[in-house]
Amino acid sequence: MPNASKGEEEKEEILKRYRQLLKACKPAMQDGDKKLIRKAFDMALGAHKNMRRKSGEPYIYHPLAVAQICAGEIALGTTSIMCALLHDVVEDTDITLENISLKFGEKVARIIDGLTKIEASVFDSKTGSVQAENFRKMLLTLSDDVRVIIIKLADRLHNMRTLDSMARQSQLKIASETLYIYAPLAHRLGLYAIKTELEDLSIKYTESKEYRFIASKLADTKLERNKFVKNFVEPIKKRLENAELSFEIKGRPKSIFSIMKKMSKQNIPFEEVYDLFAIRIIVDTPPEKEKEDCFKAYSIVTDMYTPNPDRFRDWISTPKANGYESLHTTVMSTEGKWVEVQIRSERMDEVAEKGYAAHWKYKDQKKVKMDDKADYKSISKSQEDRARQDPASGLEDWLNRVREMLENPDSNALDFLDNFKQELQVEEVFVFTPKGDLKKLPTGSTTLDFAYDVHSDVGNKCIGAKVNNKLVPLSHVLVNGDQIEILTSTRQKPNEDWIEFVVTGKAKSKIREYFKEEKRKVAGDGKEMLERKFRNSKIEMKPENLDILLDYFNLPTVTDLYYLVAKGIIEKSSLHLQEIFDYEKKKELDTRHKVAEHHKARAERPQPSRPDAVFIGDNATETDLLYSLAKCCNPIPGDDIFAFVTIGEGIKIHRTNCPNGTDLMANYGYRVQKARWASSDPTKERAFLVGIQIIGTDAIGIVRGITDVISQKLQVNMKSISIDTVDGRFEGGIELYIYDTSHLEDLMEKIKKVEGVYSVDRRS
Ligand code: MN
Repeated sequence: MPNASKGEEEKEEILKRYRQLLKACKPAMQDGDKKLIRKAFDMALGAHKNMRRKSGEPYIYHPLAVAQICAGEIALGTTSIMCALLHDVVEDTDITLENISLKFGEKVARIIDGLTKIEASVFDSKTGSVQAENFRKMLLTLSDDVRVIIIKLADRLHNMRTLDSMARQSQLKIASETLYIYAPLAHRLGLYAIKTELEDLSIKYTESKEYRFIASKLADTKLERNKFVKNFVEPIKKRLENAELSFEIKGRPKSIFSIMKKMSKQNIPFEEVYDLFAIRIIVDTPPEKEKEDCFKAYSIVTDMYTPNPDRFRDWISTPKANGYESLHTTVMSTEGKWVEVQIRSERMDEVAEKGYAAHWKYKDQKKVKMDDKADYKSISKSQEDRARQDPASGLEDWLNRVREMLENPDSNALDFLDNFKQELQVEEVFVFTPKGDLKKLPTGSTTLDFAYDVHSDVGNKCIGAKVNNKLVPLSHVLVNGDQIEILTSTRQKPNEDWIEFVVTGKAKSKIREYFKEEKRKVAGDGKEMLERKFRNSKIEMKPENLDILLDYFNLPTVTDLYYLVAKGIIEKSSLHLQEIFDYEKKKELDTRHKVAEHHKARAERPQPSRPDAVFIGDNATETDLLYSLAKCCNPIPGDDIFAFVTIGEGIKIHRTNCPNGTDLMANYGYRVQKARWASSDPTKERAFLVGIQIIGTDAIGIVRGITDVISQKLQVNMKSISIDTVDGRFEGGIELYIYDTSHLEDLMEKIKKVEGVYSVDRRS
């Protein structure tokens, strides 16, 4: 019986994977742990027994894989492994949290609860604001136990690795969310390997074409690269050996994501990305000699190759806030190419790859089960001073800042998300208080950020500062090493512009909070004023009538209305309440009339024989939905696209690699619809406006060459052309009418061949 044997095969495979998991757990296991993991595995196996993944595989492969990632790639301990195995059980099966709590205890149940809450809802619910609110809830669980987030990242990583079996639209949505929030979170928690893989897997779906292009280029150049690395490394090896260092050297290509970012940011072709890979020297040395030996290796490298003085980074003396420690330098190779070299100890390398968890493993010296011994919550206050030089204290600072934002009861969820995203940007400056205490702030922070970091009252009353004894304004941007003394005045109060020049989440939320409070006070007066106006006009102040006013002034809430009433909005519009009501009534009748007309006209109009250009929705083959093409990315037929349902402006078609696309899909996934172009239009009836940018040397005749290609050879219509030449450099922008992507590519290829042209790019 083929079925029975297939079932047997699957059983075998499940057990094989389970044994693999045990092997990965071994380094951290203690007596009794094996039994616990088995118990969790048995429960998960039973609970998911009749379920399958989209790929058709038994569902249990998924929790097993997530547990495997937690054990092998993040070095988490037994509690986390159990939770990973059980992470989908409460969400998807009949098993309840009480069942879990009875069988595995409170701690496991709490983590599963956190995981279930995230699983259900972060980006998946029906309305935008709820999504952000759920996100906030997810982070509240983070402040309880960071393991929830780490296991969630492992879960997401496995889902990304197996995304191929999902529908295209889900792929886009999941990949966008991953890029928007999960990859930055992984970065913030110091999980570099996972962050990099999440990014690469995301763009594999959101920017498939570019991804495939770079991946194939990397494969093509692999041999050449290996040879280069070998030649580069050989002489260093000898010197390191002579210095009696024990070490390992790796030459790794940079991630596809980072190469792609570099290409688009600097607008250069693949061939010109000079740091396609980094050389990493990992020194095996005891903790007390780490710094010394890393610098020894550094001096050997820079003896042999000239370093670029602008590109030296010492993350060992001052580790990054996420715990990252390493020396970075970029040196000139004998072949005239810049090469980035990273130098770190074995411990630093493991922390960099595996993040937080690995850090605590080392902190406890022995290889103990980190997640049972170290209580995440209790690390902080008492150890704060001692921890000043401790790389994890930066992370702890960050968790504290997030906690602080979370505890602010009336921070609006979307503001919160915004602030949080900002806090995720990890690049930072190191500055000092007047007493010489070190503070880390995000790059771009101003004196005002510093003031709010000290205390919200100091921020609210801040009038300026002395930076290195020089008087500077609130908006002064801080640089490494600045020493800052904040100046305050009791008469000072926050100004609306302040929000523009602070970058920390804390400062933003405190300023917003101040104005919200102010607004509430003013709105109270406004409400009384409006009540009087209603009474005088003999109109009842009931919700329907307030809605009419909200419509008239186009305001979202009554608080806004009261606030503006207090600020004199009705007086300024020089209208009486009664007139507003009359006007709104008339407008409503008008629109009703117009809508009826519109329907009539539509019914009478002959339908075009040609199919519509864009189909919107699942499996759509025809559509009469009205749509427009988004201005931000100007899609044309042939581009990978999606439809986005806007509020008030109908359906917009965006390119999947639109600069706004990730945000839209991640935050408003429920408003994203599948869209595709109708098979290309053979009659070429419809042309689309596309902007291209041409850069070249200002050779005589270049403009003529270009316009010849466009209008003579290809007979494409131009809408506009603008040209700038500065110091022999030519920069032109041309707007053209194009049928589809192959038309555009053909044209761009031909322009590239014009003498003097250096690059041709499509403008988004
Ligand atoms: Mn899962």
